[in-house]
Amino acid sequence: MLENREYEVAVCGGGFAGIAAALSAARAGAKVALFEKEYMLGGLGTAGLVTIYLPLCDGMGHQVSFGIAEELFRLSTKYGAEAMYPANWLDGVGNRDEKSSRFQVRYNAQVFAILAERLLLDAGVDILYGSYAVDTILEDGKISALITESKSGRCAYYVKSVIDATGDCDIAHFSGAPTSIHERGNSLAAWYYYTDENGYDLKQLGAADVPNPDPNTKFKELTSRRFSGLEARDISDFVTIGHEKLLADWLKRREENPEAVISTIATIPQFRMTRKLVGEYELTEEDNHKYFEDSVGMVANWRKRGPIYEVPFRALYSRSVKNLAVAGRCISSDEALWDIIRVIPCCAVEGEAVGLAAAMTDDFTTLDVAVLQSKLKQNGVVLHEKDLI
Ligand SMILES: Cc1cc2nc3c(=O)[nH]c(=O)nc-3n(C[C@H](O)[C@H](O)[C@H](O)COP(=O)(O)OP(=O)(O)OC[C@H]3O[C@@H](n4cnc5c(N)ncnc54)[C@H](O)[C@@H]3O)c2cc1C
Repeated sequence: MLENREYEVAVCGGGFAGIAAALSAARAGAKVALFEKEYMLGGLGTAGLVTIYLPLCDGMGHQVSFGIAEELFRLSTKYGAEAMYPANWLDGVGNRDEKSSRFQVRYNAQVFAILAERLLLDAGVDILYGSYAVDTILEDGKISALITESKSGRCAYYVKSVIDATGDCDIAHFSGAPTSIHERGNSLAAWYYYTDENGYDLKQLGAADVPNPDPNTKFKELTSRRFSGLEARDISDFVTIGHEKLLADWLKRREENPEAVISTIATIPQFRMTRKLVGEYELTEEDNHKYFEDSVGMVANWRKRGPIYEVPFRALYSRSVKNLAVAGRCISSDEALWDIIRVIPCCAVEGEAVGLAAAMTDDFTTLDVAVLQSKLKQNGVVLHEKDLI
């Protein structure tokens, strides 16, 4: 039987951004394909073992991210949390002020990946695993076909609109849209799960890309080398050096605790920031508490309590490729905000917005944003800080 090769919406990448985008587009009635090069959904949030769903709240008592961002949060805890269960938010026990725990959780990667897959299949999304998006064909400033490589060989899929949720802005890059790369490069990360007599736990091995000034931080630089995450040799070095450090870390643990075993290692490299879109608007840290007429949702700051950022639709596309929008850790922001806005809840907020938009148009530059906003509101998204209770 011939494979179907025509879709209204193609979502490239099945991390949290891609899951939200595909779900949102399918619920709006579009025929959606999700192309994922791996064999599970969730991206860094599952295969990458980054299993902390950072806050949906501002840390001052206000929930700021809603809609699919909250739905995926609740899905991640459907059969229980691994740690950091926010009873004050989920069960209404205790306070939600600046002293209480934030609306965040640690979830089980494998359970979430399976539940997310079922959610998308039930919504009618065609999931194509093992499918690497490698190129695009452009006609009149729009992507007319997406080229993938998989067990089926090299295939062209004819599409009306495309969401780049690859995390690395691959599709924008292939299509000639303006992008920029992470100047400083990524520090080595090798998070892994281990099991000992106390059960299993997550070891967050490696420093954050923005170094923690606290000399006692548990997040220590594993090597002085920085990695771009955009070139095969560099990525392979990141993985192999990471494995070496991980093994050394576990052997040290085993000296003190002979029961300790490694339970899971990441199957995709743990790059935080690689390449991002230069969109119609570049979101910055100064946009904290700023009103945007074209806001499509809000996100908080996981590093500190207080800030709230409205996400303008213009940060999610570029005029140069009219039917391409981005979501996730590759949206248009400056270097300083990138580290704040790349995290899971933000990816889901942006994914919901562009997925819905893609179901409405094949030209993001002319979309009536007011109509998009009204549909997002109907789906439970709060767009502006002034509308928070
Ligand atoms: C070490 C580390 C610690 C972190 N800590 C946290 C944390 O505690 N909490 C938090 O919320 N966030 C954290 N983050 C950030 C967060 O995990 C990611 O930014 C977020 O999950 C990104 O989601 P995404 O959907 O944009 O991209 P990704 O999760 O990267 O997903 C992209 C998906 O696209 C697929 N893909 C890529 N290219 C292609 C292609 N060309 N064709 C087809 N498929 C493709 C990939 O396989 C992947 O599944 C951390 C990140 C790292 C690396």
